[in-house]
Formats: sequence, structure tokens, C-alpha cells
Amino acid sequence: MEYIGHGGKKIVERVIVSPSEARERVQGLKQIEVSGRIARECVDIAYGFFTPLEGFMDKADVEAVCERMALADGTLWSMPIVFDIAGEEIREKGIKEGDTILLVYQDGPLAILEVENIFNYDTTKMAQAVLGTTDIKHPGVRMFNELKDTFIGGEVTLVNVPRFNPPFDKFWYTPRQLREKFAEKGWERIVAHQTRNVPHSGHEWLMKGAWFSANGELPVEKLRTGILVSCIIGPKRVGDYIDEAIVLGQQKLHEARYFRDDIHMVSIALWDMRYAGPKEAIFHAILRENMGCTHHMFGRDHAGVGTYYDPYDAHRIFDQIPEGSLNIKPVRILEWWYCPICGEVTYSGLCGHSQERQNFSGTMIRSMVQDKVKPTKLIFRPEVFDKLMESADKYGFGSPFCTEKYLSKRQPVFELSEL
Ligand SMILES: [Zn+2]
Repeated sequence: MEYIGHGGKKIVERVIVSPSEARERVQGLKQIEVSGRIARECVDIAYGFFTPLEGFMDKADVEAVCERMALADGTLWSMPIVFDIAGEEIREKGIKEGDTILLVYQDGPLAILEVENIFNYDTTKMAQAVLGTTDIKHPGVRMFNELKDTFIGGEVTLVNVPRFNPPFDKFWYTPRQLREKFAEKGWERIVAHQTRNVPHSGHEWLMKGAWFSANGELPVEKLRTGILVSCIIGPKRVGDYIDEAIVLGQQKLHEARYFRDDIHMVSIALWDMRYAGPKEAIFHAILRENMGCTHHMFGRDHAGVGTYYDPYDAHRIFDQIPEGSLNIKPVRILEWWYCPICGEVTYSGLCGHSQERQNFSGTMIRSMVQDKVKPTKLIFRPEVFDKLMESADKYGFGSPFCTEKYLSKRQPVFELSEL
């Protein structure tokens, strides 16, 4: 079956699954050890999460993305996807355009890269274009600043199928597998929820509200709408929830029947957040379009950080892109909060007691979790709390939050075998 992704292009699939063929292809190639980010992006490219990209961007695409928020051929695109390398390493290894090199990740052969274009690009200019700032307090700016001085553009082919470790193996689906799964479930509308959190009731209601919106005009006989929780797996910092608790906590919401089993599923997506607010919202939409979703929910301050973006910039940007440039609909959600007068979780667009409201404070919930105090079930489901504590013991060395120990000793999300 052929599936269509972003830009009306066939979903990219560039994976050599036969180890003997892979062994043959990598024989005698120059090798480069790559970072976690590049490894994750190789996997994304090869399975079509970044369709229509077949590899890392050349200079023309990077320029077009920075200047016009599009690829060189005009397809809407908001994030540079670049392979960075030290100029020194290029010289030492004698890498030149026309070469094929083997990318190695944590001692395992990962992918081959066709060196089509070696170029330089000003990373400050890149940060300004994508993030709208060059302030080094912005984590995305730091990421751009840390890029090495030279870029290689060229096609990527995976030579090794990544092996996901538990519990992630149950949540890893490629764009092809997701579409097969949606067909099996009979879903016709799929609304994506992007997350890096263990869900509290605010998140739960965000999903519920988006599900109502995505159903829209459908009569009851035609309700075939599902929620895809798409957990972003990328670099972690001390104090973040551990990845295992995030996926298992999200999954618990339907295991405990807060969502019907047939309208909710959890998956993971590999991505290093740039916190680019509106431009990242566009990118998330493209990613979920490639994953087969028809709708994408955007809450307040989506993918933002600090006060760099207006909380609703990520809503507005969808009105500023060319008509027909995106084949997924944004579902724009305001805030859910707890209102003591209504006595329930309610919506900022509905409840008139805004003076009395109690916002869902991530910080407050985290401090309760830290002290192992179960929050009231109106704001945090007890089953999710129990799963969080269980995950802390099983995966987090006793903590539901990333510690130095977790960051250095955790089991990797995925590994590569010998060929
Ligand atoms: Zn109220």
C-alpha cells in the first residue's frame, strides 16, 4: 500500500532490512560517529516522519527554510534538518562531495549518507530565522549555537533497524505502521496530541476538547475519530519526567478507562525540541501529517519557552501559511483550569469565574509528586499517579524525574545490533 505524506509526496522509506545486503553496502566506507540528535533524525528521515525529505538538507533547502519557511521547491517547511560536522573532521577523513559514508551511533552501524553538498551556514542567522531570537537563554538558540561549523547535505539510508527497549517497543510505530493501525481501528479522523508530560486533568481535557472539535459535524453513526498521543522522545534534562513514566502514564488513561480503549492510543516520536513556538507548531503539524493524522491540537503556548512568544502565536501562524500547504487541520484550544465555584475542571472560553480559577500548575503537581503526595483525583488521576510511582521504581532509580544517575545509567530508548 502506498501512503501519501506532506507535500503530496509518497511516504519516504529508506531502510535496508536485510543484514547481508547492509553488510555489503557498508563495506569499506569511511565512518563518522554521530550524536543522539543526528541518530534520531536519521531514523525519522528513513521511516518518512520527515517526508518529503530523503536526507539532510542541502544549502538551497536551508536557505529557503530560513528565508521563506519552505523547502527550495516551495513545500511548506519550518525547521532546518542539518547534518553538522567539524570542518577538521572532513579534512582529516578526506570527505568530499560524491562520497558515501557510514554513520555510526554508539558503536553500531546506523545509516549511510550520500555526501551531495558540503556547505557552511551562519547558525546565528538560522536561530534568528527559526526562533525569532538569538538570546542564549533560549534553549533552541543554544542548540543552534552548538552546531559544528560545516554541514553535509545528502540522502540517508538506514542500514540497521533500531531495536526499541521496553517499554518503548510497545509504542514505536513508523508512519506506515501507524496508518495500518488506524485502518485496523477504523479511524477516519485522527487528532494528534503532542506531549512531553505525564498527563494531569488539564492535558486530559485538552484531548477531550480536541476530540469533540475533530468530530465536528459528524452524526453518531459516523464517529470514527481517534486520539493519537504522540510522546516526543529526545534529550532529557535533570528534573524532566522520565520518558518511561510519560508513555506509561499516558497509556494508563485508557487502561483506566478515562478514554475508551477504541478511541485513544499512545505512540512515540523521536525529536529534539527547538522550542520554536509558532514555527515548531508548523513542524509538529507536518510530522503528524506524515504520521497519518488529520487534526492536530494546539493548546496555550505550544512548544514555547519563557516569554519569547505570545501564548497564541502558535495558533495564529496557521492563518498565515498558503492555503493548501498543509494537509492536517489545527484544532486550537484555549485553557482548561479548575474552578472552585463550578466545582470542576472547566474551560477558559466558557467559565465566567476567571477571578477564582486555579490554573493547572505543573510546578505544584510536580512538587506533590516529588513528595509522593497523591493530588486530588480532579486534577491528577490516581491510577496515573500509581503508574508514575511504579515507573520511578522500575526505570527511574526511585525517582519519577530525571536525575544525574538516570541520565547516565538509563537503558537507551533504542539500540543497534551488529550487522
Ligand atoms: Zn467557574
